[in-house]
Parts: sequence; structure tokens; C-alpha cells
Amino acid sequence: MIGRYAPSPTGELHLGNLRTALLAWLFARSAGSRFLLRIEDLDPDRSRSRHIATQLGDLHAIGIDWDGDPVRQTERAGAHRAALDRLREEGLLYRCFCSRREVREAASARHGELPEGHYPGTCLALDPAESDRRAAAGEEFALRLRAVCAEVAFDDRLHGERSAIADDVVLRRRDGVVAYNLAVVVDDHDQGVEEVVRGDDLLPATAAQALLCDLLGIPRPSWAHVPLVLGPDGARLAKRHGAITLADLAAEGLTPAHALAWMARTLELAAPAEQVTLADLLARFDPDRLPREPTRFAGVVS
Ligand code: GLU
Repeated sequence: MIGRYAPSPTGELHLGNLRTALLAWLFARSAGSRFLLRIEDLDPDRSRSRHIATQLGDLHAIGIDWDGDPVRQTERAGAHRAALDRLREEGLLYRCFCSRREVREAASARHGELPEGHYPGTCLALDPAESDRRAAAGEEFALRLRAVCAEVAFDDRLHGERSAIADDVVLRRRDGVVAYNLAVVVDDHDQGVEEVVRGDDLLPATAAQALLCDLLGIPRPSWAHVPLVLGPDGARLAKRHGAITLADLAAEGLTPAHALAWMARTLELAAPAEQVTLADLLARFDPDRLPREPTRFAGVVS
């Protein structure tokens, strides 16, 4: 089972990101598997090259290693385009002219059985001739997956059998950039990734990704969505929550070993304040005994 970690270089990795990376590494290495790294740098607005070296350095600092050179998603444009072309030829894409605001407003209104936040298919209902006319007139559009409210069943190693309605996710943005949901499926497959271990904030995206695998005729990977680290207020971990990166910790005189000890403790793999190595964690790791609840970061690594 080849595993991977796929960070986006949009900032420094925080304790939550590092803990997810550690878990992905533990899942793979405890099974004797290869472990790959992929830099998800497709979003030109948010990705910064300088973060790549820092992220890789931080992963190494806590002892995580990987096989081969990291793959950068921006180098895989040909494969992404080929997948888009295939979906287009099969009539599985539609143009969406909605602005961000329109998408937000449409998605927050109630739409029958659609889960909250789903795109309700406003532009799916556009007359094809009208869609052609607007495109020919130079209006910008995104390309969405024609998921037609498909109910998709998939299996998650930690969450069990799930079934959810696949969203009409954007596969190519208005600015022409290939979107995460397409790239992740194509790249995992091309890299031979068989087990995707990632934060459970991505569980809601999984139905659409599973559907995409099926539509592209590629085998689905297996998924394990692991619990996140949250701030004390229950919100996504952020700077205001305290020293959350290795650099922040270093400024307080704390080392990567302290961060590792904290991660191990919150995963119930070590006793409070016990210093551990990755070899210790590998020997203790049992996916079936992972905590299922998110961890609230109390503001200090101790
Ligand atoms: N690049 C995504 C992130 O940093 C992770 C995507 C994935 O693991 O599928 O949140």
C-alpha cells in the first residue's frame, strides 16, 4: 500500500499538519510501504515556493522520510489536461459562470436534499446555446463535474462505510487553473498511491473524488481520514492559538522532539512528557486504536 502526504505550500506546517503527516507516515511505514510526498502547488494565488523548503525541512526535523523526490503538481499539467479532456469528451463537465459571491449565496440557500455548501447546479440549468454564447463572448467560466446528485458509497478505514451525495465540484477554475479535486485523483493514481491518509476536513470531498475515479476508469485508493487538531475554541488551528509551528516553538526554546512528544501523546502513543522516537511510535502504532475525536490544542506543547 503506497502512502503519501500532500501538503499545499501556502504557509508553514502547524502541529495539526505535522500530526497528519506523521500519521500518514505511520500508516505507510508500519505496513512496510513506500511513502511519497507531493507538493500541491497548483493555486498560484496561495502557493509560495519559499514554503516548500520550510515544509520539507520541518517534516525531516520530526523524522519523517519519503521515497524519491517530491512531485510538484505544477509539473503535471499534461496529465491534468488529459483527464479534463476525457471528462469533457464524455459530456461530464459543464461551464459555470457564477461569481464567487453567487456560488456562496446559491450554496447557502436550501436546495431540497442537497447537503449544505453544495453547488445547486445553477449553471447546469443554463440553455446550452446560451452557455456557448456567453463563452464565445469571452465571459470567464469554471468547469464543474456533472455529478447529478449521484449518491456515492465509499469505504473509509476509520469512518467505515459512508455514503454521500457528490458535489458538482469545480475541476478547472475560472482563471484556468486545474482544481484540487481533479489533480488529487489523477496524481494519486499516477504516483501509484493506494492509501490516502489525510485530515478529516476532507471527508466531505471524498464522494466527488471517488466518483471522479470511477468516471476516469481508475481504481479508487483506500481512504483513512484522521482527526484534526483544533484550537481551544474549536476552530481550525491558527496563529492566534499560540506557538503552532516548529519555528514558533523554537522561539520558545522547544525542539522538534517536544513537538513529536506532544503529537505522540495526543495520539495516545506516549505518556505525558515522555520523549519518543519515530521508531518507538512505529512499534506502538495501531490504526484501529487511533483516537477518533479531534484534539484541542491548549496553547502550549507540554
Ligand atoms: N493539499 C491538501 C492540504 O494541504 C491535502 C490534500 C489531500 O491530502 O488529499 O490540505
